[in-house]
Amino acid sequence: MKPAGRFVGSILKDLKAQTKVGTNLLEIDDFVRQRIESRKGAESCYVDYAPDFGTGPFTHYICTSVNDAVLHGMPYDYSLKDGDLLTLDLAISVDGWVGDSAISFVVGNAIDPEDLRLIKCTEDALAAGIAQAQPGNRLGDVSQAIGDVARSQGYPVNLEFGGHGVGHVMHGDPFVMNDGKAHHGYKLRPGLVIAIEPWFLKTTDEIYQDPRDGWTLRSSDGSRGAHSEHTIAITDDGPQILTVRE
Ligand code: MG
Repeated sequence: MKPAGRFVGSILKDLKAQTKVGTNLLEIDDFVRQRIESRKGAESCYVDYAPDFGTGPFTHYICTSVNDAVLHGMPYDYSLKDGDLLTLDLAISVDGWVGDSAISFVVGNAIDPEDLRLIKCTEDALAAGIAQAQPGNRLGDVSQAIGDVARSQGYPVNLEFGGHGVGHVMHGDPFVMNDGKAHHGYKLRPGLVIAIEPWFLKTTDEIYQDPRDGWTLRSSDGSRGAHSEHTIAITDDGPQILTVRE
């Protein structure tokens, strides 16, 4: 699964470097389409994906969630403004194996320190969750580690959407909740691959689906969200990040 993970990581790294004030979400989408089309064996996990939490098939190559949008952001004709908080979530299969990863960052120079604090909290929660993804630990150890970091920073946690098993399909079992109880749940074994993906909103745990596209999930109170995700393998030597951004 390493080639798929590295491919996803490299695209996110490039997108973070090249996304500027004025970049259109559809340009980002088109860049991902071109990268996928130029890589033999690569296929989008998003195009035509039609799970029960979306309305009809997804029609783009990447999720772009801006400001009060946090998950499943459908790209549309929007040019990024100075200070926008952008989340990019990308899943691609390469030779039949999936990599899934997400990154949040602020575009331009008008950076609100509160946005950076929120982003850092999701990154810290991701690191804490990964640190618990040890053989012999349980899923609840990962979940509680994530929830503890959110609590320490005063952010509420939504439990409807979280991490998941990854393999030949993007969304497999087990579900990896962003909060839980240590020492409970499925036992982690070498060979298990999961996506760990803390995402938090500043002042609410409630979301709604944007009726304009039937996909984008936004905060109920308009507060901004951030999201950090890696696909990791549990090995005899501990967790290994597959979606490295090199
Ligand atoms: Mg995911």
